[in-house]
Amino acid sequence: MNNTNEMSVSFSSNAQNESFARMVIAAFITGTNPTLEEVSDVKTAVSEAVTNSIIHGYRNNTGQVIVNAKVTGRKIYIEIIDYGDGITDVKKAMEPMYTTRPDEERSGMGFSFMEAFMDRIEVESEVGKGTTVKMWKEIGTAGRQFE
Ligand code: ATP
Ligand code: MG
Repeated sequence: MNNTNEMSVSFSSNAQNESFARMVIAAFITGTNPTLEEVSDVKTAVSEAVTNSIIHGYRNNTGQVIVNAKVTGRKIYIEIIDYGDGITDVKKAMEPMYTTRPDEERSGMGFSFMEAFMDRIEVESEVGKGTTVKMWKEIGTAGRQFE
């Protein structure tokens, strides 16, 4: 039996599409039978990455943000891709409280949230080409009291 399911969506870098991305990913992972907390964690991680693509990647222009997702059993894999400005120093960008936009009330915690809410994240970026954030999470590993 093939228990792998995949999806891909592409949308413009409008702030209103943050909520679209949250809804899409929540709907897609339903089959993994997640707790409400797990759904919330994945939505938050995706929304942080999508927000970054919109406000940092496409700061000076508009473009498409792509969300690819794959579920295998209860394992979730998600990619958020943009073709925007890219990140000069990925390691530094991923440090807690690091932001290149302190003027805009950003706290520099986006990557920290993604790391906290997912099992693992990886960031690939090239200046002038864009950024890909990859994230993994296995559902059902946190112990569920009420089942
Ligand atoms: P917060 O997420 O707390 O509002 P932030 O977005 O600045 O603040 P992070 O999400 O941790 O913090 O991102 C850190 C920095 O990495 C950003 O300030 C930005 O410089 C860079 N960055 C992150 N994602 C992208 C992206 N997709 N394209 C270009 N730069 C990015
Ligand atoms: Mg951010």
